[in-house]
Amino acid sequence: MQHLWIAKNDWDDPVTEEVNRTWSQFREQLYLLTSIKVARHAFVDKGVLLQLHCFCDASEAAYGACVYARSVDADGTVKVELLTSKSRPAPLKLYCLRFIRRCQGKMIEYGFIKCNEYAEAKQTLIRALQRKEFNEEIGLLLKNQPIPANSKLKRLRPFVDKSGILRVGGRLRNADMKYAAKHPMILPGKCHFSRTVAVAYHEMILHAGPQLTLAALRQEFWPLNGKTLVSYICRGCHTCFKTNPATIRQPPGQMPKQRISPSRPFSTVGVDYCGPMMLRQPHRKSTCQKAYVAIFVCFFSKAVHIEIVED
Ligand SMILES: [Zn+2]
Repeated sequence: MQHLWIAKNDWDDPVTEEVNRTWSQFREQLYLLTSIKVARHAFVDKGVLLQLHCFCDASEAAYGACVYARSVDADGTVKVELLTSKSRPAPLKLYCLRFIRRCQGKMIEYGFIKCNEYAEAKQTLIRALQRKEFNEEIGLLLKNQPIPANSKLKRLRPFVDKSGILRVGGRLRNADMKYAAKHPMILPGKCHFSRTVAVAYHEMILHAGPQLTLAALRQEFWPLNGKTLVSYICRGCHTCFKTNPATIRQPPGQMPKQRISPSRPFSTVGVDYCGPMMLRQPHRKSTCQKAYVAIFVCFFSKAVHIEIVED
């Protein structure tokens, strides 16, 4: 499949001679599957020792892992059975940057993608995305000019860092936090990349609700309209939907006696206070004055009395 993908074959295109040969070889080996047997019971009866042995390997074409169980009983009988295995074709995308480097004659890396290459690939993606979405703002910031007042980014006080990534400036410069959390990378609210990272964070924190997902996401990224993005992700999450976790509700307490026994109006009241409001005296051309409002609520009849509280 990977070869067909690279060759950009369409559904009805005849495949190349080499692909045909590889496929035929693979097909001829399929009968070997009949010789593979998987025991239903993976362990010895009354085992005294159980070990899990995990193996993994990878090439540029694919990677995989498998887990074997090795159990031993009191007589020393050993049983080894395959428990589970997984394999995947290697993703092509991560190798693009390496391919470009190699073409430029700069490349020295071989084998697995290294951590720094992964980080670089992520930065390249984000830079390209930000150039597409916030080109005007980035251009102005690089020229040390203020961004327009109606820009969606104005409130975030954005800046462009050393590697050309647009980040939130904010007011946390002196906070004792990681750089990425103080100055998260700005992302557009509606794009495939933002949705992908939001899903990744939602899964990483084990399907927490929208608020927690957003807080975790903001440790690294600042998507515009973040609330809308994460609630969209959480609502669309199949795992969350299937689990349908019930929120815990505190049962309401018993009503106080005064609320349920008949009495004269306002014999028991609750008082609240609101304001300030600006008041102007009717008879004078005075300046406005601050005033507050006291609200008395009758416990039994719910009648309300409002009283002004002047300065
Ligand atoms: Zn979920």
